[in-house]
Amino acid sequence: MPKRTTNGGGGTPKRNRSGKEAAVPSSPGSKRTLDFYFANRSLNDTPVDSTSGVRKLSQSKAENGNEKADEELARKLQAQFDTEYQLLNQSNLSSREIGHRSEYSTTPDATIYYTENYMPKILESDILAVDADGGEQQPPSSAEAATSKSTAAIFGSIAAIDFTVSSSEFDPNLYLAALKSFVRAPYFLLTHLFTQVAATRSRIKIVNGLTNFIRLLMLLDMSALGSAVWLSTNSIGPPYKALELGIGGSIISKALKSVSGISAPALKRLYDKHGDIGDVAFEAKVSVRTLVEPPHLSIKGVYDTLVQIALAKGNKSQDLKQKLVEKLLIRGRGEEVRYLTRTFVQHLRIGAVRTTMLTALARAFTFAAHGSDCPQDRLQKAEEIVRQCYARHPNYDDIVTALLASGVENLIESCPMTLHIPILPMLGSITKDMSEMLVRIGRENTEFACEFKYDGQRAQIHYDESGKISIFSRHLDLMTDKYPDIVDVLRSHRVISDSTRSFILEGEIVAIDEVTGALDSFQSLSNRGRKDVQIDSISVTVCLFAFDLMYLNGESLLELSFRRRRELLRGTFSPVPHKFAYAESIDATPLDQDAISSFFHSSIESKCEGIMVKLLDSVTVPAAGANKRTKSLLSTYTPDLRQESWLKVKKDYDSAADSVDLVPIGGWHGNGRKSNFWSPVLLAVRDPDTGVFQAVCKCMTGFTDAMYKETKAKYDEGTINVTRVKPADFETPLTPEFFWVPQEVWEIKFADVTLSPLYSAAQGIVSDRGLSIRFPRFIRRRDDKGVEEASTPAFLAELYRRQHARGTEDPVQEQAADDLYEQFY
Ligand code: ATP
Repeated sequence: MPKRTTNGGGGTPKRNRSGKEAAVPSSPGSKRTLDFYFANRSLNDTPVDSTSGVRKLSQSKAENGNEKADEELARKLQAQFDTEYQLLNQSNLSSREIGHRSEYSTTPDATIYYTENYMPKILESDILAVDADGGEQQPPSSAEAATSKSTAAIFGSIAAIDFTVSSSEFDPNLYLAALKSFVRAPYFLLTHLFTQVAATRSRIKIVNGLTNFIRLLMLLDMSALGSAVWLSTNSIGPPYKALELGIGGSIISKALKSVSGISAPALKRLYDKHGDIGDVAFEAKVSVRTLVEPPHLSIKGVYDTLVQIALAKGNKSQDLKQKLVEKLLIRGRGEEVRYLTRTFVQHLRIGAVRTTMLTALARAFTFAAHGSDCPQDRLQKAEEIVRQCYARHPNYDDIVTALLASGVENLIESCPMTLHIPILPMLGSITKDMSEMLVRIGRENTEFACEFKYDGQRAQIHYDESGKISIFSRHLDLMTDKYPDIVDVLRSHRVISDSTRSFILEGEIVAIDEVTGALDSFQSLSNRGRKDVQIDSISVTVCLFAFDLMYLNGESLLELSFRRRRELLRGTFSPVPHKFAYAESIDATPLDQDAISSFFHSSIESKCEGIMVKLLDSVTVPAAGANKRTKSLLSTYTPDLRQESWLKVKKDYDSAADSVDLVPIGGWHGNGRKSNFWSPVLLAVRDPDTGVFQAVCKCMTGFTDAMYKETKAKYDEGTINVTRVKPADFETPLTPEFFWVPQEVWEIKFADVTLSPLYSAAQGIVSDRGLSIRFPRFIRRRDDKGVEEASTPAFLAELYRRQHARGTEDPVQEQAADDLYEQFY
């Protein structure tokens, strides 16, 4: 079976599922809210506006004298604090600045928020040194300063920009004059883009939107480009930097209560109404008015604050995160609040995914260099370069910097593969059985290697001249501290030849029996600690089985054939028994069927999952179909691409069963013993072009009791992980009791892929009908995959085609299958 690690996915935030709210927010800022005054009494009976959910004191009908007295006191104190707030603002501003203040003033208000009276001391001492102005707008020169009226006009003109039009119709220069008073690009500009992109399912419009936005930002504020790219792709840094926001539902609801005065029950009502925490925040905040409008947010300011949130560590970090979240929410207006909050939970719902962003970057920089009417083939070439660059160097900051410095054409050189930055792994294609593998691998004389397909954890190891070693997971997480024993083996057992200065090597880390060296199961490996493993306390012994070498002594080996890379691999390292080995392998041609078959069986006997078949040299083979075309199978190392030159033959090859990696997106409560748990669970593939989750089946088998409990705990009612309202980015004909926020991947086995009268997943790829899978069975969580790596509609369609090509579907079986299939509705 595929690799499963217990190492957490890089980009997915840990969501706090505790619904418990602390009654007393801890910052002076939050004391301004009514929660503070009601800290020691229930808030449940506080009247709220039924639509907005915001507590309305003026409408409050106290039922007894005490409540009345409380209410009066609250009103009085609120007024007092409002006045104080105003004075506080004024005391920190010169009269000139106040004179220029407007609703979206460009005046620096960092001091207001960082003043000792307003923000908790922890902010100043712990993090605010990071960015003196908090990333907010600098004061405009008096000539540039916008008056209320002109600022309103500026925002009016931003609201009128249509980013989604075709790039030839979009002239960024038209908007520059209106935006020139902004020293830093306003966050509002980005959320305006988000609103437009979220409103469409058209990939063309989404790409246009991002492309045109980037073009405008290149002219307006290049320093915000990197921040905008991160914010648009639901992340604040590459996975290997492990920058996790760690903002859970509890922090968000406390912050929302603090900045809007909304009560916990009202917040819950809003969540039940919208099912999206961003929509909730938008509505909670929309009716809040402050006497003095805080300064508007800048794109870079928001990004920098998010980085501060992610970096907050230690026992006060939760308070600190909450205060920073409040700070952003106080400043946010309208759509800004919606998208800030979605960003906090890293679920932006704008359909902008990695490939879209890379395409947009390629196009924007190509248009900037060659004009927006440049030919299609130039654009395609640019897109290919940017995608390739990302696969070798997945860091938007570095890519944007290199693009700005030397454009698209030179990107591969200016942003090259770099030690200690993981490259995206090359992926293999599945085959159903040995004979299909032999057909796909090519002609009779094609030479290939068969290797054991180990059941461990894929590892990419980087080593530089200083002796530094980094180990990355398949998901690009840094996991060096999980495997100090591997580091030790490489350093102290003369594994690395003396002439080696640097390398990037790939292999599988597998649990083994320390004495016999026999391979152990993946299950054993998952018992190893995840972080900061101490070498003396290791109980699960592992061996690294190296299978590829991508970089050696300062040179990329990606363009070399596998035969040559393997030669270099074998010449660079010396195996150490039970610690470092080369993947067990034989070389063969399609004529060696007996040898391959016996190798396959020995792999299974050794507790492997099957074999990997890898072309030794690039070849040209006949393409499928009658048109006598040929296709090339490359034996080079192609990061991030699923190649036909790497084929997987798994031990389940003789059964009909295969597996897909699906995202759980909703659940129903079970019956009887399972009434407290989720069963069945609605599962979806994810469209990588739009980010939409397309339901494919309900699954109710394969769950253990422990799994039931874990799932129940994770998707607990009353947390922001579940909602009754169907999220806009879900495509499902079924309405589960609760929808779940997508955040993990489950491996699901099934009998076959079938055309569905119900589901619309992959609709239009193989048929007008959608696809579903029959007899889905839960196998395990794929902790080494994020939702972006879930199976795609195209993959499902491919499985369907293959199955069809094998002719497994006869009409009688089909009918029986459909009858059985009904039970899953
Ligand atoms: P994919 O990585 O293709 O998305 P997956 O993660 O579900 O799929 P599999 O389909 O089971 O995994 O197969 C690929 C994985 O097999 C690799 O990611 C790697 O961890 C593992 N593996 C084990 N042995 C080898 C080997 N000799 N060569 C390449 N990969 C191997």
